[in-house]
Amino acid sequence: MPVSETMVQDIVKEVVARMQLAGTAQSTYHGVFADMNDAIAAAKEAQKKVRVMTMDQREQIISNIRKKTHENAEVLARMGVEETGMGNVGDKILKHHLLADKTPGTEDITTTAWSGDRGLTLVEMGPFGVIGAITPCTNPSETVLCNCIGMIAAGNTVVFNPHPQAVKTSTFAMNLVNEASIEAGGPDNVACTVEKPTLATSSTMMKHKDIPLIAATGGPGVVTAVLSSGKRGIGAGAGNPPALVDETADIRKAAQDIVNGCTFDNNLPCIAEKEIVAVDSIADELMDYMISEQGCYLISKEEQDRLVKTVLTPKGLNRKCVGRSARVLLSMIGIEAPSNIRCIVFEGEKEHPLISEELMMPILGLVRAKGFDDAVEKAVWLEHGNRHSAHIHSKNIDNITRYARAIDTAILVKNAPSYAALGFGGEGYCTFTIASRTGEGLTSASTFTKRRRCVMSDSLCIR
Ligand code: NAD
Repeated sequence: MPVSETMVQDIVKEVVARMQLAGTAQSTYHGVFADMNDAIAAAKEAQKKVRVMTMDQREQIISNIRKKTHENAEVLARMGVEETGMGNVGDKILKHHLLADKTPGTEDITTTAWSGDRGLTLVEMGPFGVIGAITPCTNPSETVLCNCIGMIAAGNTVVFNPHPQAVKTSTFAMNLVNEASIEAGGPDNVACTVEKPTLATSSTMMKHKDIPLIAATGGPGVVTAVLSSGKRGIGAGAGNPPALVDETADIRKAAQDIVNGCTFDNNLPCIAEKEIVAVDSIADELMDYMISEQGCYLISKEEQDRLVKTVLTPKGLNRKCVGRSARVLLSMIGIEAPSNIRCIVFEGEKEHPLISEELMMPILGLVRAKGFDDAVEKAVWLEHGNRHSAHIHSKNIDNITRYARAIDTAILVKNAPSYAALGFGGEGYCTFTIASRTGEGLTSASTFTKRRRCVMSDSLCIR
């Protein structure tokens, strides 16, 4: 077979990717320190330099981070899957391209002005300084890169305490950010971390006098820790998003959207559909479409029991199951599923542990509701007051409004897969830090600023 130019390019790309994965030692990365205090000191020095850069220079760093994210999307995706064992490479590549294209940069930093008889007053968005950021293993490089774009665009630098199970991927992403800064004429160490992040290094960071703001992306434990730190905290916590389907929905499309959203990156995104609440009159039809057209595998009561024992341990979620594909999960309970299977489904009560727990794996329990009011009540219960994300498939705008008010989440997606909320098949910008607990919602550069009022009395109004 003749070797085409495209094939040669693909082989070269693969070899370069493998060399990068295998050959780059963490100790040679920019921004990695043995001691958390040294990491913070370096980020503080870098922030002094960022602070005096023009907005245009800052934007050049951001553009370079976007470029490097695109160039390294596949390397980062493979590294994340290899290191954490979670998710799938194809979807992770898409997530990197999405964040590179749609995370807001310096354009998000705006000024409000009042001018009148008594002069001119401006409110400007200034940096906090060095931000402490804690990141999850479910979207390791995505969160680091997205946080860096927003935080640096706002004039800050960042010290990360990444998840210990995703250190390599997270530090690789930080290295790219520092390279992007240096190449654009900015300082090194705009993103720093420690070689071995632990709860102790996290505690050092949270207590440090030079860290005025902490952004925590993770489960309930870390958000509570940050909010107890005595510092300003942005808490992007856990979710358990229900997808409600009523009798007015396009049921076939709802089945497709829900399964597409649920299976994206093996259900790792915190916004992804974690269970379904369907009104009785369409519940069977919805289940039929999911099984016949969307690659769903219906498990029996006895198989559900085996799955519960595999997925949930007395200490909580079995991390070996998080972000695994449906076929891998089924093989763990002795089922050899066909290759087209992408999601596990069953019907159960809302209290069923595979429904009420935030699993982060492609398992969708369907809860049957007597009518719309009952469906809303069940969905609100299942969201557990996280105020994170919820989804609805309905053509009745009164129903949509009632649901939106009752569930009161940072994200509510209507008639689309959950990832539309991140600007993927929907309008709006992207973020991987959704501040559900503290109310900032989908974070962006402006979230990481202090508002400052600048007043000129009786002058500079020329109206
Ligand atoms: P995790 O809570 O286990 O870890 C997240 C980070 O917090 C890690 O860096 C971990 O080391 C740190 N951490 C955990 N407990 C801590 C404590 N007591 N003190 C200091 N640091 C602590 O979460 P994970 O498994 O990495 O990620 C999945 C969770 O994160 C899910 O609950 C998911 O919903 C949530 N999440 C939320 C968002 C969001 O934007 N709201 C985004 C991604 C993930």
